[in-house]
Amino acid sequence: MNNNIKFFGAHTSASGGVENAAKNAVAIGATAFALFTKNQRQWSAPALTAKQIDVFKAACEEGGFSPAQILPHDSYLINLGHPDAEGLQKSRDSFFEEMERCERLGLDRLNFHPGSHLKRITSLQSLDRIAESINMALERSSGVTAVLENTAGQGSNLGFAFEQLAYIIERVDDKSRVGVCIDTCHAFAAGYDLRTKEACDKTFEEFDRIIGFEYLRGMHLNDAMRPLGSHIDRHAPLGDGEIGWECFRYIATDDRFAGIPLILETPDEARWAEEIATLKKFANQ
Ligand SMILES: [Zn+2]
Ligand SMILES: [Zn+2]
Repeated sequence: MNNNIKFFGAHTSASGGVENAAKNAVAIGATAFALFTKNQRQWSAPALTAKQIDVFKAACEEGGFSPAQILPHDSYLINLGHPDAEGLQKSRDSFFEEMERCERLGLDRLNFHPGSHLKRITSLQSLDRIAESINMALERSSGVTAVLENTAGQGSNLGFAFEQLAYIIERVDDKSRVGVCIDTCHAFAAGYDLRTKEACDKTFEEFDRIIGFEYLRGMHLNDAMRPLGSHIDRHAPLGDGEIGWECFRYIATDDRFAGIPLILETPDEARWAEEIATLKKFANQ
């Protein structure tokens, strides 16, 4: 296989069954997809049946999706840096359940937002809890990498600075099963400029120096509705926001972003096929 190949896709709907995420991805010309393996607004879900797992695997095979092209996302309720014992335990249990679901589906990575201190503990205390939570989940599971997503830094959400993600990674025992997903909208909202080639060079040089491309397990490709450094998380269709097409052309043509899921979370689903076609054209695919 050409190892410079780019995998473009979107966070598709798994409504009616996890296999539908793969089918919905095929329908928009995607070579990657993201999904929730359970209802993202609930703590728990019934275990997947052997039948559901078989159907999912068959749909992935039919669509040509290997694990490196799939980026499952965990529930929004989980906060691995929770200040309270009860909230932390609930989050850790639920996160482990999500890791297990991925493992059973044959998937090799799970994307999640690091956590929030909720203004009740310090950032460092919360970051330490996040690292400890990851260590606990990795100890109890196998084959699935915990993929930290950078955030916009809205409210008390941590993980907006590359240094915070590096701080967590440093404290994870098994470095082979921790990674990051960089969301372009979140990075821009956090103050990392991506509007020109020069700005992208600088931001990704900083990323490489502080975290390292060897930890990159996926990207979320979103334009941003709000200006640089707003700390507000509002996605825009590619080219319609404050970042603009240059950044997405940069990612589509740079080999450092090859071989991982490059996922749209842009608000207008009707435009996903066109956005993917444009990205593929940039990448000569
Ligand atoms: Zn994202
Ligand atoms: Zn977002």
